[in-house]
Amino acid sequence: MADPKPTKIEKALDFKAKYQTLMNEARDEAIASIQGQIGTLKELGFTFELVESGSRFSAKAPKAGEKKQRTCKICGKTGHNARTCPQRPNA
Ligand SMILES: [Zn+2]
Repeated sequence: MADPKPTKIEKALDFKAKYQTLMNEARDEAIASIQGQIGTLKELGFTFELVESGSRFSAKAPKAGEKKQRTCKICGKTGHNARTCPQRPNA
């Protein structure tokens, strides 16, 4: 007959799972609280953002309105590219 009592390994794994769940819940609770306060700041006109350190979602993407300037390969001027260059040979 198998021992109905869980082994220490099973107990440890069970505790680990519970710990993980508890940690996630605690984190979510803290984040919700902070986001509530961020919302209050926004109402006051201050824009803040909660970003996890080392997060993949941290802003690396270019901001809207920061369009990359085109530089012409032919004349070196900005605002158009080689395809639309007025100085392009064989136009
Ligand atoms: Zn050009």
